[in-house]
Amino acid sequence: MTTSEPARSYPARRAPGAETLAELDEALIDCRACPRLVEWREETARTKRRAYADWDYWGRPVPGFGPPDASVAIVGLAPAAHGGNRTGRMFTGDRAGDFLYSALYDLGLANRRTATHRGDGLELRGVRITSPVHCAPPANRPTPGERDTCRPWLARELRLLRPTVRSAVVLGAFGWQAVMPALEAAGWSVPRPRPVFGHGARSTLRAADGGAPLTLFGCYHVSQQNTFTGRLTPAMLREVLGTAAEAAGLPGSGPDPDPDPDPS
Ligand code: SF4
Repeated sequence: MTTSEPARSYPARRAPGAETLAELDEALIDCRACPRLVEWREETARTKRRAYADWDYWGRPVPGFGPPDASVAIVGLAPAAHGGNRTGRMFTGDRAGDFLYSALYDLGLANRRTATHRGDGLELRGVRITSPVHCAPPANRPTPGERDTCRPWLARELRLLRPTVRSAVVLGAFGWQAVMPALEAAGWSVPRPRPVFGHGARSTLRAADGGAPLTLFGCYHVSQQNTFTGRLTPAMLREVLGTAAEAAGLPGSGPDPDPDPDPS
């Protein structure tokens, strides 16, 4: 593991009395701005998957997960119909989440390797996970219009994270394209031409007001389509997340080449 410079400290820019992340999350879960997604998330919650027949599905927008003073943001795509849309927490209750949380655990950024339900004790250290679309879409494919409608939520979340966030890992090309205008709305300057997505892509964004810059990292999405085929391996994911954590100044978070099993 290489040693990174200590994170430079910048003053918090949130005005006294302004919205908090908890308030944003509270407001988000009542959003019904996308008719197709509202219908799908609620229909999925009613009909359920047989394996989860005894679950009371969440069936609402899924807010970001992680501390409000996170140094690293992870931006996915949208909740899964029977994952986040069932459990009410990002990447919780599906294989993609287990893949992601296992990597975070290996890096010391999560206290558990698995995520099964809200209240399972999972905690993240210095990391906040969110998405550009907060409701489960049919076939995991939001429309461009739904992406744009949901953008203000992501922009507000990123703006609230600005005092502490120093790097962002974007999972997949959809998230990469969606996050650029949200980052601009949150106060960072996106270079022109815009950085191109790729696994391992890296770009530094200046803050428009002279505040802290943000280092952006591209990573293949943790979907089963990528992880089952070996396009994204655990080592590849650990490498990107560990590098992002180091860039953000999170101590002791370099990739562990020989991670321990989950003791829980
Ligand atoms: S996707 Fe976003 S904007 Fe659309 S209904 Fe869900 S929370 Fe609201």
